[in-house]
Amino acid sequence: MGIRTVKQYKESLKDGRRVYLSGEKVEDITKHPILGITCDTIAAGYELTASKDPEVKNLFVAPHPETGEPINRLFITPGGTEDLINRTKMIQRSIQIIGGLPFGKDIGTDCLNAAFVVAGQMGKKEYQENAKNFLEHLRKNDLHTCGAVTCVKGDRSKEPAKQKHPDYYLHVVDKNKDGIIVKGAKIHITSAPAANEIIVVPTRQMRENEADYAVSFAIPANTEGVTFICRGGRGAWSDREFHADRPVRELTEAMIVFDNVFVPWERVFMCGEWQFSMLLAYTFATFHRFTAISYKVPAVEVMAGCAVAMAKYNGLEKVSHIQDKLADIAAYVETLRALANAAAQNPVMYGDIAVPNPLIANMAKLHFASKYHEFIKLVQDIAGGIIATSPDKRDWDNPDIHDYLEHYLGGSEKYSTLERMQMIHETMRHVCSHESAFHEVTTVHAEGSMAAQKMMILAESPLKQYETMAKVAAGILPRDSF
Ligand SMILES: Cc1cc2nc3c(=O)[nH]c(=O)nc-3n(C[C@H](O)[C@H](O)[C@H](O)COP(=O)(O)OP(=O)(O)OC[C@H]3O[C@@H](n4cnc5c(N)ncnc54)[C@H](O)[C@@H]3O)c2cc1C
Repeated sequence: MGIRTVKQYKESLKDGRRVYLSGEKVEDITKHPILGITCDTIAAGYELTASKDPEVKNLFVAPHPETGEPINRLFITPGGTEDLINRTKMIQRSIQIIGGLPFGKDIGTDCLNAAFVVAGQMGKKEYQENAKNFLEHLRKNDLHTCGAVTCVKGDRSKEPAKQKHPDYYLHVVDKNKDGIIVKGAKIHITSAPAANEIIVVPTRQMRENEADYAVSFAIPANTEGVTFICRGGRGAWSDREFHADRPVRELTEAMIVFDNVFVPWERVFMCGEWQFSMLLAYTFATFHRFTAISYKVPAVEVMAGCAVAMAKYNGLEKVSHIQDKLADIAAYVETLRALANAAAQNPVMYGDIAVPNPLIANMAKLHFASKYHEFIKLVQDIAGGIIATSPDKRDWDNPDIHDYLEHYLGGSEKYSTLERMQMIHETMRHVCSHESAFHEVTTVHAEGSMAAQKMMILAESPLKQYETMAKVAAGILPRDSF
């Protein structure tokens, strides 16, 4: 098949998967008012691979490296900077064209690429074969994947084996000649209810007594014993909002419960090799933070654009303190872009697989997360209190009061009141809404907490070299110490 249509993707979701949202079992997620939006957002990714525009099609579709058959380019295992840059471009163009990210093939391949690296390091032929066969299955059937890494974790101060019960981290409960049985729950998993395949990776390093927790595999979403418990989302546009004429883009996250789930051996990428669990979690995190910083760039570009536009609509674009804030806004966005590019330009090679530079990818994610709220504050500051109190689209459409709004809510005479109202509402969505609060938390936690990024920065930074330089400067070490 190679490249699926939107229809084929949506049909594939009617496979008996067990999905709950707000206490209700959802029989057909494609028709659900919230999960349907997730399906449509992911389906838009299949519109990109079917694009009539050759620039778009060539970016999203690539020839299979061996057969030349068309496949989604996200299924190309990165072999160098060009492939990594293409991943970034695909993610960014998706957002520009469809207004959202059909997230899934990217997180799934972040997991699978990490599994490839680790299988190679373990020198285990069977895991390498399993990962390769699974990749071919994804390529051939153009499947949507989710990456299930984060365990529910229970008491965070305790290791997996020391928790009140053994199931706070996903683990192997039994094995037989055909496969393994796993139990546990993964949480916050993006796009999970609308994925075809779930790829599981350990959430952290495991120790010798935690070998059963060092497990990685892939299973179809309708596997017996798997249940998705989903977050409720925003639903369709309401008539209170401006821009009601374009589709809402949103992905639902889910807790995935694995209740004694059977996984055949041919779908297993790690089972008990606790010594490599750290490398797997670490390599996944690097790939995934690179994905993150790729999609964050267009997200913050739009928000920066709101600040630029609101400054103009308010007639303040030339005022010095506004310009000062716009400079800070631009520096935030451009530092992120530069770091994302640098992570792709300086990959670390594991055999023939290019892993984005771990130090730079983590620095980029930390930059994004640690300064995001400050960035939001600048946008809020420039836009004014109207982004908290604005009348809505229904008010605008009501002839009794429309003229008051038209007359009193204008700004710079260069622009219409309607334009200013539209931009107020766009800005509101990004910095003063339920959705924006969701993104503030997502910024802090998704793709790992800031403490996780700092741990990786410390591990990757040349601290010893800094120390030597200081000791040479202080005359403690001779000048030829480098
Ligand atoms: C919108 C969204 C989408 C996501 N999508 C995915 C996805 O697709 N796949 C996936 O696998 N995950 C996903 N995640 C999960 C994300 O990676 C986690 O939220 C993140 O790793 C933090 O874990 P946590 O939420 O359990 O927070 P916690 O682990 O509870 O962290 C809370 C705080 O405690 C600190 N902390 C935790 N444990 C310790 C410890 N032992 N010692 C010291 N400090 C500690 C953390 O650093 C943090 O400051 C998503 C999260 C969000 C919000």
